[in-house]
Amino acid sequence: MTDGAALRTPASPSDAHPGGEPLLRVENVVKRFPIRRGIFFKRQIGSVHAVDDVSLEVRSGETVGIVGETGCGKSTLARCVTRLHPLTSGRVIFAGADISRMSPRQMRPYRRRMQMIFQDPYGSLNPRRRVGSIIGDPLAIHGVSEGQERRRQVQELMERVGLNPEHYNRFPAEFSGGQRQRIGVARALALRPTLVVCDEPVSALDVSVQAQIINLLEDLQTDFGLTYIFIAHDLSVVEHVSDRVAVMYLGKIVETAGTSALFGTPRHPYTVALLSAAPVADPERARVAQRVILEGDVPSPIAPPPGCRFHTRCPRAQPICATEEPPLEVKAGDPEGHLTACHFPLLAGETMVGAAPGVAAPPPITSSEGPAA
Ligand code: SF4
Repeated sequence: MTDGAALRTPASPSDAHPGGEPLLRVENVVKRFPIRRGIFFKRQIGSVHAVDDVSLEVRSGETVGIVGETGCGKSTLARCVTRLHPLTSGRVIFAGADISRMSPRQMRPYRRRMQMIFQDPYGSLNPRRRVGSIIGDPLAIHGVSEGQERRRQVQELMERVGLNPEHYNRFPAEFSGGQRQRIGVARALALRPTLVVCDEPVSALDVSVQAQIINLLEDLQTDFGLTYIFIAHDLSVVEHVSDRVAVMYLGKIVETAGTSALFGTPRHPYTVALLSAAPVADPERARVAQRVILEGDVPSPIAPPPGCRFHTRCPRAQPICATEEPPLEVKAGDPEGHLTACHFPLLAGETMVGAAPGVAAPPPITSSEGPAA
């Protein structure tokens, strides 16, 4: 990311938010979308396995980044966490309460404390409504304030996110992309949430304004004590903002670790491939970086491969990978404590060429599941 408003260097992630209690616990969450066919009598003919058995903890005050290819399920997971999607199974524990199956009425007090910032600052704002009303909506819906008091609070929020409070009566079309995203940020902050899920908050913006929004989010985190789940395609952005990072592939988390550990010594072959595809600004890191080209497409989430879901594309795959699903766990001898779902994770300093250590040249994978077209 290049920009006039350069990203500031954050404090060390481990220093920034010394270990708090989990604010959010996601336990074995599954989300499937049914596929139906038929004109009058629709019958289910399958389902899309969007999120499959995902567990994750988010501590108060930290930022957890979620990365992965398009369609890996990260946005669906974000919507499950905030209960915008009902869960197929599993539990979401927020602030000590199981919100997995709460009714809309029961969810109301929790909704105030968890908000989302959406990707598209153009599509997520109603073009026919004035900005003051858009930002003030949460205050009105939750009966926080009305009349002049609401207007005062909205203008205060506008000022805090870098908008001119005198533009209260303008329409979204009168703002630039970056300003519209600031409107989305102000709306998300209106109820003073504790958890904010940022779903690709800068990917629709010009690179010239991405850094401004990232710096704004970091300032707000400090000022309001916010906890973030941060979803982004841009790995450099995720590395910059996150304390910990979870990597998703085809609906599953395949690796989780502290940011510097994950970017410095990735263990899972998919993480290595994902990081190798990203440009590296540091010339020293770029010099030693290995380039891993994955072959084939991501398999269909309608019929994900058995065993390890990455085995159809993994350069280290062995026969066991096609039949036995690797658990997400800390591997013996890993001093950095990565949680890795792989039978043959990379050791520190190992490059991803050929077979896993101590294993003969890999025979061809014999799974019947090939990559989907
Ligand atoms: Fe590759 Fe096997 Fe590890 Fe899956 S379990 S990532 S196929 S080595």
